Formats: sequence, C-alpha cells, structure tokens
Amino acid sequence: MKQFDVPVFYRSPLISAIKRKRKEKDKLKKDFAPTLLDFGPVQIYLARHFGFCYGVENAIEIAFRTIDENPGKRIYLLSEMIHNPQVNQDLLSRGVRFLQDTHGRQIIPFEELTPNDIVLIPAFGTTLEIEKKLNTIGIHTEKYNTTCPFVEKVWNRSEVIARKEYTIVIHGKPTHEETRATFSHAAFNAPSVVVKNMAQTVELAKYITGEKPAAGFYQEFKGQYSVNFDIAKDLERLGVVNQTTMLASDTQAIADYLKQIMIDKYRLTKETLAERFADTRDTLCYATNDNQTSVTEMLRTPADFAVVVGGYNSSNTSHLVELCEEKLPTYFINNAEKILSRREILHYNFHTKEELLTAGFLPDPTPVKILMTSGASCPDALVEQVIEKITGFFSNTVPTATVAANFLSQ
Ligand code: SF4
Repeated sequence: MKQFDVPVFYRSPLISAIKRKRKEKDKLKKDFAPTLLDFGPVQIYLARHFGFCYGVENAIEIAFRTIDENPGKRIYLLSEMIHNPQVNQDLLSRGVRFLQDTHGRQIIPFEELTPNDIVLIPAFGTTLEIEKKLNTIGIHTEKYNTTCPFVEKVWNRSEVIARKEYTIVIHGKPTHEETRATFSHAAFNAPSVVVKNMAQTVELAKYITGEKPAAGFYQEFKGQYSVNFDIAKDLERLGVVNQTTMLASDTQAIADYLKQIMIDKYRLTKETLAERFADTRDTLCYATNDNQTSVTEMLRTPADFAVVVGGYNSSNTSHLVELCEEKLPTYFINNAEKILSRREILHYNFHTKEELLTAGFLPDPTPVKILMTSGASCPDALVEQVIEKITGFFSNTVPTATVAANFLSQ
C-alpha cells in the first residue's frame, strides 16, 4: 500500500516498529490476534490493526502539503477534515479555517470566498450541490480533494445499482458528512433513502409491506429521502450500501432483513431474487473491516478493561467502543490527559454524548490486563502517550525500550 508523508509528530516509534514487524510476519493479513506488550505489573494487548487508515493519511498529506506550497493564500476546509480534534486543531493553528461544522452548518458564508482561495474537500467527500457551488465561485475542488477512494468506491457501487433501476438504501448516520455526500451522489442517479439503524429499517419495511399507510413515510423519514421519492413505486426494487465506517454486523443484518421482506412480499426464489433485491455485499472499507475484526479477536483475551482512543465524533471509533462494551468495561478517551490520576479517568459515553468521571478504573491486583485500540483518524502518538501514562502509575515496570526490543526479537 502507498506510503504517505504524514508529519512525524503523529507517529509513534514504538507503534510503528510493532506494526512493521507484524506486517512482515503476516503479509497476507490472516493473523488478527492482538500484540502483547508486557510491562510486568501491567500488560497491554494492542489490537492487530488500528490507527490512521489510507484515507486519513492521504488527507493529512494533501492538507499539510497544500499549506506548505501556498504561503499567503487563504486555505479553507469544507468541514473537519477527519474526526480527530488534534489533527483539526493542528490545521487551524496553521491558519486553515473551517467553512462548515460537522453537521453542515455554515461558519463562514460561501459568498466570502474568491477564486483565489483554496478549499480542501475532506476525506468523507462532499455533496454534489456544494461542489457545484464552489465551482461556480471559481474554486477548483479537484486539486485539493482529499475524498477517500474507498468512499468513492461506494458512490460507484451506488451508480451501478442505480443504472439497474434499484432504489438505494444507505445505512449510515443521516447527519454524518460521509452519509450526506453518499446520499447526494446516490440521489443524483436513483431514488435514495437513508436508514440509521435496524429500528428505522423495520419501520421502512412497514411501508414496503403496506403495514403502514404510505403518507406517513414522508414525515417519518423527513430529510432522509431524495427529492420526488415516490413511496408507491420506489420501494419495489432495493439495493443496500453503507457509510464505510458502520458496524459490519449491523449493515449485514439490515440487508438481510430487507432481503427477507422482499422475498416474502414478492414470493421470490433464489432465481428471481435479483429482480427485486440487488446483491451488494457490504461497502465497508478495508480499514473498518480490519479494525473491527481485530477488536473482535482481541476481545477473546480476558482483561480488566479496554481503552479506545479517538475523536468523540468519530463514527468508526464509536463502533469499536460498541464492540468492546459488550464484553468488558470500556473507556473511550481522546487523549492521555483524560487519565487524570491512578484512580480517575474522564471518558466519553457516546450513547448519551457526555463525558463521565470514573473512579477506581485501575484495579489493585497485578498484573492489570488492558485491551487497547484506536480509531482510523487517531494518531499513533496519542496511543503511545496513553500507554506511557498508564504504565507510569506502576513501579518496577519493564522499560518501554526493553518491551519493544523483546517484541521485535521474537
Ligand atoms: S475509514 Fe475507510 S473510507 Fe474512511 S477514510 Fe479511512 S480508509 Fe477511507
């Protein structure tokens, strides 16, 4: 895979060495077991895959290069480039300004832009409407477009389904930048509707079966369907795609559910299924797949708790948290500072969207066993800082250099 020029302060020498070694030993990516870092009184199990993905490194490289190559120019980001507060803050401190917040609310009016300005399109991509608006102003979006190729792959998949006259059902968070962008591209080609979860899918299915009166759809799915969506005919042929960072099992369950609804309603057989339901295996990206599989494998190891590092508004990170929470106490933090002391940790509850203070998170009996991972937009340097912070609470720990040397000599 392509190597990107990412600022060195986002890297961690320890984690880079571990990742390099694991890659060398497992070129075909078949081994998803975690890496044990044995510090003596504390043992950390690092997920096999975590941290910056292809799309994030690509976006960071383009953004920092654009800043370096364009001194004196006004550089804007359409919205957060990726969902990591440190990376976004670093860009802001270099003079980059955001045009919109993550919900698409305008911070700086487009009218203030001139053809001389640079606007970076984030890794999630953007809507066709915004792209057109910027092009009309005279801003060339192609040159500074950091849209991840794996997001574009979903758009292409939607187009293929659309050409075969299926309606596109997008499993994603309706207000997430990527889902808004995918919806815009899908809706350009075919009737489209977004479902945020299984509960909403079940309600959508009631309009397919006729259990709910058609008129209710427009209110219930307000803001989630394409212009001129015709409930009388646009739910007769379906294909499912998803936001690339959703939980794989959730998307699969949603696609299976809708497939069964169509089979029952139209009495489809294996041979006739394609008449009503497009065969789209999930459109998760490789990083989401690898990171979720690594967490599932890591969770086989008995441990005291899990730590997940990443931005609080990061979709892929919250799904890793969700997987861990099913098995053991899980602390979702966005940097090492959130570990306030040997006793206290400030962590994010993404269900209630609030930070919570938990006391006594580190148990007394040693060795303490901790599972650790991070989201696709989280710098490895932050994970190393979290490891250092935790190991710093114990005496007689094996030095990090020795732990690394032990691992690398295996
Ligand atoms: S998580 Fe996947 S789709 Fe999103 S930026 Fe990373 S590689 Fe691209």
